[in-house]
Amino acid sequence: MSLDFRCLKCGSDKYQVKTCIIPEKDPGLKLELGKYYIKTCLLCGYTEMYNAKILDKNEEVNLAKN
Ligand SMILES: [Zn+2]
Repeated sequence: MSLDFRCLKCGSDKYQVKTCIIPEKDPGLKLELGKYYIKTCLLCGYTEMYNAKILDKNEEVNLAKN
């Protein structure tokens, strides 16, 4: 995963990324597991969350352009 990151709170560019699996259920549908990336600023702890399904798809589009 390549994400440009500058912390919105403190401006730091130091961060760590972890993967998180969360059970998701739409009404009337079976349970699915959603994958998310959790990006945490190492300086102040500000955390952003990304849907991996969407992020990975966008990266494929970017790769195709290069
Ligand atoms: Zn920060």
